[in-house]
Amino acid sequence: MNAGDALQVGLDSFDELAQALGCCLPETLVGQPLGAIETDTRKLSDQPAPLFVALRGERFDAHDFLAQARANGAVAALVERQMDDPLPQIIVPDTRLAFGLLAAARRRRWGRPLIAVTGNSGKTSVKGLIHAILSRDAARFEAESLANHGNLNNDFGLPMTLLRLDESHQHAVVELGANHLGEIAWTTALARPQVAVITNVTGAHVGEFGGMGQIAQAKGEILAGLSPLSGRRPVAVLNRDDAYFPLWQSLAATGQAIEVIDFSLMSTNDDSARLQARDLGADGLGRYAFELTFDGESLGRVQLKLLGRHNVANALAAAAACLALGVDSQLVVEGLESAESAPGRLGVVAGLNGSRLLDDSYNANPGAMMAALELLASLPAPRWCLMGAMGELGDDAERLHAEVGAYACQLGIDFFATCGEEAQAATEAFGAGGKHFIERTALEAYVRTHLPTGASVLVKGSRSAGMENVIAALKVDA
Ligand code: ATP
Ligand code: UDP
Ligand code: MG
Repeated sequence: MNAGDALQVGLDSFDELAQALGCCLPETLVGQPLGAIETDTRKLSDQPAPLFVALRGERFDAHDFLAQARANGAVAALVERQMDDPLPQIIVPDTRLAFGLLAAARRRRWGRPLIAVTGNSGKTSVKGLIHAILSRDAARFEAESLANHGNLNNDFGLPMTLLRLDESHQHAVVELGANHLGEIAWTTALARPQVAVITNVTGAHVGEFGGMGQIAQAKGEILAGLSPLSGRRPVAVLNRDDAYFPLWQSLAATGQAIEVIDFSLMSTNDDSARLQARDLGADGLGRYAFELTFDGESLGRVQLKLLGRHNVANALAAAAACLALGVDSQLVVEGLESAESAPGRLGVVAGLNGSRLLDDSYNANPGAMMAALELLASLPAPRWCLMGAMGELGDDAERLHAEVGAYACQLGIDFFATCGEEAQAATEAFGAGGKHFIERTALEAYVRTHLPTGASVLVKGSRSAGMENVIAALKVDA
């Protein structure tokens, strides 16, 4: 089975499904209509003629739930081996792969413009910005635009999103994540984006990939899987400020013809990036405003609600992708201005002693940590950083933590506290004014008693660090 086999067919009947997957159909399903596709028995009821796809997860093997699937209304199950249950069963070698192929078939039939966003940091943020713009565009036609929920961005999450595509959606945006080579190539083959965005390489999963260059290569896989944009070349939106821009630029120049729209926060002269943020400035709370220019022409002034300079880069990436689809520039500006932060990504929360907590607890990697520290450095003193360890950094963990600590010191952060074993190197590199705690709860207790009045407090760490608990411990009801 490969993605290409599946893409010529629709998904209205079980016969089409069998064709898509290149598998046999039990006699009872021949000629039968296919309704919903569902992977969770608990969500089966109320759906029309659902097919239950039995996946293996971390906790359960859904092959054990066929009786439950039948009781909840499934008309058939997609399985990897014949189970002892009267539910009609379609057998494939790998249900996770087959699930992807079914989603690919749905996407192919839907056939409209789709933007895919990959990169180390900012995928969900850029997706949110794009969705804010595209929703406005779709509303003009009383239509909708689809975006993946939350963070669904892998070989399971992407198919989940693609299977939601229907006639009410004028266009769509999805994020594509990866922790190994080849993953983006696969999800790109399923999603068939006409516009691809690569945000950056900031070091997420560097341990699993084996180096920054490998991460850049993995993100670049998206460029080999683009589809034409109604008769025009597909578009790659690339970050000119990233060290790996030349690699992506050269990948975009090989194979099929791709139009590149590059963006940059640095350049201000005419022969540099096509999308720029000129006259860039922030208020005392880290909210940026700028003049959005495309190919040297002003599209209007943008005042973001999102905090931090990195979100200006995210806004440029989103603007470029939407302009590539031909969205009106006024809607681009309005969409960027309306976008709000996703949970745990630099939202502002009222804290103890009149402090402002910057809740960036969703995740961290070296580049994202530094971007958030830059924002903290621009906020009113005293400036406190509460950092949980950054995970998945492999052999480089100590060095990368130390670099973050040294950068915080260089930025003049007043107090720098860390928790989790690997983060100790960050505190040591920060020097005087740093404090390390083994347990997160000890850090919480210390901060609760020592937090000065009116502090700006950044709270950030990898998912595994659970820094949202620090926010819960320090916040007050506004
Ligand atoms: P994940 O792969 O973990 O889901 P993501 O790529 O979807 O991450 P977001 O959820 O948008 O990224 O942002 C996660 C964190 O990355 C934010 O809290 C912020 O600190 C940081 N970040 C977002 N955009 C950028 C950027 N352009 N440059 C550097 N850091 C960024
Ligand atoms: N599942 C199900 N019914 C249940 C519990 C789980 O259909 O009562 C499915 C679930 O939707 C998933 C699979 O079984 O497709 C594996 O579940 P697990 O929770 O292990 O998956 P994870 O989300 O951890 O990958
Ligand atoms: Mg994400």
